[in-house]
Amino acid sequence: MSDVLAGLHAIVGNKGLLTDPAEMGAYAIDWRKLFPGKPLAVARPSSTAEVSAVMGFCHHHGLAVVPQGGNTGMAGGAVPDTSGRELVLSLARMNRLRGLDPVGMTLEAESGVVLQTAQEAAVAVNRLLPISLAAEGSATIGGVISTNAGGVNVLRYGMARSMVLGLEVVLPDGRVVDGLRQLRKDNAGYDWKQIFIGTEGTLGIVTAAVLRLMPRPTQRLTALVSVPDPQAALDFLVLAQDALGDTISAFELISGFSIGLVQRHFGLSCPVGAGEWYVLIEAGATLSGLREAVETAFEQALGQGCVIDGTIAESGQQAADLWMLRERVTESEAKESKSVKHDVSIPIPSIPQFLIEAGQALDRHAPGTRVNCFGHLGDGNLHYNILIDGHDPHDINRIVHDVVDRFGGSISAEHGIGQYRVDELALRRSESEQFLSRLIKTAIDPLDLMNPGKVLSRRETR
Ligand SMILES: Cc1cc2nc3c(=O)[nH]c(=O)nc-3n(C[C@H](O)[C@H](O)[C@H](O)COP(=O)(O)OP(=O)(O)OC[C@H]3O[C@@H](n4cnc5c(N)ncnc54)[C@H](O)[C@@H]3O)c2cc1C
Repeated sequence: MSDVLAGLHAIVGNKGLLTDPAEMGAYAIDWRKLFPGKPLAVARPSSTAEVSAVMGFCHHHGLAVVPQGGNTGMAGGAVPDTSGRELVLSLARMNRLRGLDPVGMTLEAESGVVLQTAQEAAVAVNRLLPISLAAEGSATIGGVISTNAGGVNVLRYGMARSMVLGLEVVLPDGRVVDGLRQLRKDNAGYDWKQIFIGTEGTLGIVTAAVLRLMPRPTQRLTALVSVPDPQAALDFLVLAQDALGDTISAFELISGFSIGLVQRHFGLSCPVGAGEWYVLIEAGATLSGLREAVETAFEQALGQGCVIDGTIAESGQQAADLWMLRERVTESEAKESKSVKHDVSIPIPSIPQFLIEAGQALDRHAPGTRVNCFGHLGDGNLHYNILIDGHDPHDINRIVHDVVDRFGGSISAEHGIGQYRVDELALRRSESEQFLSRLIKTAIDPLDLMNPGKVLSRRETR
């Protein structure tokens, strides 16, 4: 064993260090299998003190560190490069729930706690942790915070950032910063925790967090409708918001093509008459009258022609079945063909026109490609994925992102930059924004040891 590995072993012990390539396999490649890497080793510390000691050791020896949670990220941010010199630091063993307070409505969790475990702990005290995404059975609290994850409840509750009250982080030199406060209001000085949220492990390690909980709605309604086109979906969104207010937690747009993929690859059936597009809507409330309000909104929408057909789930099972149609889209796309993913944000009123112009651009420059589009219409976030059928992924990126730029959008709404979109980000953000980002990176991680080459290119940070 080399001196470096022996030094790490002395900190984390047998259970905390993997060096066998077979054991490291699952840590070396991302969920999408696009970025195979070669770790120096995988450290699996079990406490903040161990994380701190590992980071101090790596700082001293100039070793790059790649933080990893559940490794479900979509942008290749949690895996090392192929040099064999980067240490993967997995937070999986830091999986203790440190506290749950139904009165103050907070939950304190270590980074490696799986999102679903945290959700279930909240439900056990009749509270809601509203961060919800299809990977919640594997994604961790640390990963969700480090990617500022979105998911299906953003419309009502905001992104992961809006749930974070306090953070504990370990800086690149091993220093622990304890900001695990449970306060809803705290304007005492810089709110430094914000710079560790959504920065994908490029500034430090998130070791624990205090998350805000919400009251748990006692009634929940899930419905699926078909709509003639995206403009009709948008008209329905406005109508639904007028009628149902902030009870709407999810308003998901799903193309007919996406539903077809799910039917083909998972054998699921769609209970709603065929449309070019579908909307999955969920609303929750504690006071009564939700069902009547939803039914009235549907009748209006049918009358105005923005909805063609629809169904309201009559049981928890039916609601889960409707959600399956949405949640299986990503996996059925992977089964169908090689694809290029775009996770774009567009000003909400411009979405129908964006879809027209992006489709025209692809027809012109990449004929034969197929569009698998679904997403969070209520948040202005589309997953505009292209089944590339032989085309160059970079060309497809440029074509789509050029249209995104024309609409004043963003090339990453919720999945982050990772290593997947580093070049595209450098092209799309202004000089001054890039300068500021580099300034922050250099101030906190002057040696560029934290997840190098992710979000910002290596060269830029040195
Ligand atoms: C089927 C599927 C559906 C998904 N749906 C959504 C969705 O709807 N919305 C959405 O936003 N995302 C979605 N994702 C992406 C992904 O699940 C989220 O980004 C999730 O938050 C990542 O959590 P993780 O623990 O797996 O992080 P990882 O993949 O392990 O890491 C992600 C990034 O965070 C960094 N990181 C991880 N833990 C830490 C830590 N403790 N400290 C510092 N840095 C850290 C990593 O270095 C990496 O850059 C989906 C993924 C899949 C596979």
